[in-house]
Amino acid sequence: METTLSPLRQALQEGDTLKLKRLLEETHPQDLLAVWDDLEGEHRYVVLTLLPKDRAAEVFANLPAEAQAEYLKTLPPWRVRELLEELSLDDLADALQAVEEEDPALFRRLKEALDPETRAEVEELTRYEEDEAGGLMTPEYVAVREGMTVEEVIRFLRRAAPDAETIYYIYVVDEAGRLKGVLSLRDLIVADPKTKVAEIMNPKVVFARTDTDQEEVARLMADYDFTVLPVVDEDGVLVGIVTVDDVLDVLEEEATEDIHRMAAVDVPDLVYSQ
Ligand code: ATP
Ligand code: MG
Repeated sequence: METTLSPLRQALQEGDTLKLKRLLEETHPQDLLAVWDDLEGEHRYVVLTLLPKDRAAEVFANLPAEAQAEYLKTLPPWRVRELLEELSLDDLADALQAVEEEDPALFRRLKEALDPETRAEVEELTRYEEDEAGGLMTPEYVAVREGMTVEEVIRFLRRAAPDAETIYYIYVVDEAGRLKGVLSLRDLIVADPKTKVAEIMNPKVVFARTDTDQEEVARLMADYDFTVLPVVDEDGVLVGIVTVDDVLDVLEEEATEDIHRMAAVDVPDLVYSQ
């Protein structure tokens, strides 16, 4: 790891922008996150500015709230705009909530800059408790009706895929948006194109409600071995999905809390040092 990143460190020291850009194009966001705390504050800023925007968003989404707020305040406006565009809606809602506490004026400005549809979705998401399924989910799921044929769904997926959080699971809803079934991408691909969704879907869907506690969500996903769990509101209407990456963060949080509790010390505030 260190060896793969040492050219990057060297380019950062030298301030060689061209070389940096080239190296950053080949660096996985996770590798950057692994050394993030060891980078100088100034170098982190450079990295977040020069990374291709999708990778910048992935790094950004995994930073602590305080750091996110700080970067939204200080990064160049074009980069902030790109980050907000690239983040998935759950991560976007979290980042904006981080800013809201620290800088209400900036929060309002950033929210105003979102397109109306995104803004409405973010406002919807921020209504939910952070430690419940509603606070973890994203509305970027794929849903179809049970009367559709397999080939219609595949055609639909082609259009929906770029904006969906995942296309491996396709949820089936009725005319009121209520969750009725689920099928995997594999189920879809192996079925005859003329088959109706109703014939191949699994009608026994395991789901969470928006107010299901995050630990329960994690437990459900672990027990059933699901990488994605659908979330419904009080009327059974599908409103989002929780993906396993968000749940792993939850488990890490809970484990850290438990460890601190066992050690009978206070959980320190997350400190972001420049
Ligand atoms: P297999 O395990 O047979 O290879 P697969 O690769 O198509 O199946 P998996 O991800 O393993 O897909 O999912 C297996 C099945 O679980 C799929 O048929 C899918 O319909 C079902 N499934 C996915 N999510 C849920 C859910 N939330 N509730 C109930 N069933 C689900
Ligand atoms: Mg499988």
